[in-house]
Order: sequence, then C-alpha cells, then structure tokens
Amino acid sequence: MIIPPHFCQVFRNPLIEAGFRHFEKNKTSVDNGCFSGYKEDEMTERKTEKLNREKQEVIKELPPLDKLMRGTFIESYLECIRAGCKCHKAKKYRHGPYYRVSYGKDGRMHHVYVPVKMKEEVKGWTDNYNKLWEAIEKISALNVKILRLHNGRKK
Ligand SMILES: [Zn+2]
Repeated sequence: MIIPPHFCQVFRNPLIEAGFRHFEKNKTSVDNGCFSGYKEDEMTERKTEKLNREKQEVIKELPPLDKLMRGTFIESYLECIRAGCKCHKAKKYRHGPYYRVSYGKDGRMHHVYVPVKMKEEVKGWTDNYNKLWEAIEKISALNVKILRLHNGRKK
C-alpha cells in the first residue's frame, strides 16, 4: 500500500502517529521513505520502555527508608586504662569487639556506639544507606540515557 506523501506532514502529530502505528502493524514493509521517522520513533520508544523497566527493577530493590543510617560501621578493639592489664602488651589482648558508627556532621566527625545485640541491624542500616545512593545514581543515569534518546530525535 502506498502512503500519500501529504501524510508525512501530519505524521508528527502524536495522535495521528499513534493511529499510524496501529495501522502499520499489519504492514510487511515500509518502503516509501516517508516512514523513516516512524522507524526511529518506534526504536526510541522501545529503548525508552526498556530503560523504564530497568528503573522499575532498581526501585524493586530499594531498601526500606526507615532502616538506614549515614556513616561508617566500625569494629574496634581497645586498650583500657588499667595500668597492669595485659591489653597493653599485645593487640590480641585488647578488649572488644566494640562497635560504633562514625559520621560527619557540621564539618566534624562524630561517632555513636552500637550495642552488641544491635550490630547486625545497624551494619544493615549503613549498608542500606549506600544501597539507596547507588539506586539513586542508577536511576539518574537511566534518566540521562532516556533524555539522550529523545534528544537524538530528528524533529
Ligand atoms: Zn585492658
């Protein structure tokens, strides 16, 4: 079937475009050159959908927002203040482990001690914080890709 040339001029209207897409599905070839833009649009749309699905995958893996903490989880073994204690003789005699999270605030480093019974949970919080930022960066990068796809369109 030959598409009259004047259809090319109205093809950019999204509603008409959508109609054409529907119409085009049953065609075996697009050969009048008029629809090279159509192919490109279709490709852009497919790629965009793929990137949107990738974003959804990232969102599915997001950590719970109430279970995160900015900081570095630290395990340490310390020397005490008792003069005769063997902890001063060698590292293996030091007391611990003790756990804490260090974090920067107002240009200074702070730390907060973590009870032993909460160490796994709190370690998870600091991991989640990093996971959340990784997810944000991934989504941001995917949105850059989407923008580039659409910027590349010849309109
Ligand atoms: Zn000691």
